[in-house]
Amino acid sequence: MPESRDDDLYKPRREGLENGVIRLTRCARCKVVEWYPLARCVHCRNEAWEWFDIDPRGRVHSWCRVVRPTVPIDGLEAPYVLALIEVEEAEGARIVALAEDPTQTPMVGDAVRLTTQSVAGAAQPHFVLAPAGS
Ligand SMILES: [Zn+2]
Repeated sequence: MPESRDDDLYKPRREGLENGVIRLTRCARCKVVEWYPLARCVHCRNEAWEWFDIDPRGRVHSWCRVVRPTVPIDGLEAPYVLALIEVEEAEGARIVALAEDPTQTPMVGDAVRLTTQSVAGAAQPHFVLAPAGS
């Protein structure tokens, strides 16, 4: 099946996830991180973006435990924990990630390490709670 234009746009991200790294985009001129990539940078109006591998450290911005999914996802059994993770090195950039351990209860502000795991055959961002003091 041919890839769509959206698939081409996100191919570096998908390839990163398949290799255990999470990639975001930043403006090629002013280096501001924007996720998702926009038509042009809101800071300098540049239209060129560059991908980079993030440092996998972050903090829980918000989270929820999904007990009864509205739309079931093959390969993902409820209950599961879904969180919005603030990327430490990219102020303002947040990534949706699944908890590797759905029995854990994160708190807003908890330090996490981002990882990748396969869900229904596609690598997706996941997180684990970082040990205290890290
Ligand atoms: Zn810019």
